[in-house]
Amino acid sequence: MLAELPHSSEYILATPTGRPIDLHNLAARAIVPQLTRCICGVMESEHQKSDHEFSRDTSLPMWRGFYSARRGIATAFADVDNALAAKSHLRHSNVSTTTAHYVKSVDVAAVRAVDKINELFDNANGSGRPN
Ligand SMILES: [Zn+2]
Repeated sequence: MLAELPHSSEYILATPTGRPIDLHNLAARAIVPQLTRCICGVMESEHQKSDHEFSRDTSLPMWRGFYSARRGIATAFADVDNALAAKSHLRHSNVSTTTAHYVKSVDVAAVRAVDKINELFDNANGSGRPN
């Protein structure tokens, strides 16, 4: 979708003058307001108290920042392939940066271990209990 956007500079997300946009401003001005809506659908900044009290629509995700998105992507890439795939996707020069700060491998490994233990229980004598 981003590649199909018309752009007149080297940046995919650019200001009208061709400079790269400030991602913190993008989050504060565009992303967070869209995710902070009342159950009636109106953004918090445009909500009129005279109608009713603002009540956040909790079906909308909470904004956790771009770093969280990068960590989630890195963890998914490392889980599906390996840490080198995550490193390349995040454009890190060193895989240790990726593994130390982005890949949440402990949680994935713990989930995998629990799945294996559950298989042991399922396979043991068909009783659901290990020998
Ligand atoms: Zn409302």
